[in-house]
Amino acid sequence: MALDWRKFAKSTASVPYVCVRCRRSFKRRVDWPLPETLPCSHCGAEAIRVSTKFKPPPRQKLDQWEKVSLLLRAGYRFESVNDDYPKTLAELPKFLANNQPRSIKPYDN
Ligand SMILES: [Zn+2]
Repeated sequence: MALDWRKFAKSTASVPYVCVRCRRSFKRRVDWPLPETLPCSHCGAEAIRVSTKFKPPPRQKLDQWEKVSLLLRAGYRFESVNDDYPKTLAELPKFLANNQPRSIKPYDN
């Protein structure tokens, strides 16, 4: 008899996604396996799944959103890494030099 792993993992989870174009994050209940991206409910652009540790900056803070965008493009999803995440755009190069993004894998928070 095959094991049904869905009995051991929650089959749905409320998961944060970020749309860099809108500078918004939203939570969505999604089924396992959790999609890496979803269409943004606001603009339809690709929204990226992030860790529940992600805290969206205020929408008017463009430099903060530029930092978020660069981190996402570098493969980070705001999961725990060695260093604290950079607080400013200026701190980003040092952070990128000293850390490696975790490989993207099923959500484990
Ligand atoms: Zn959007």
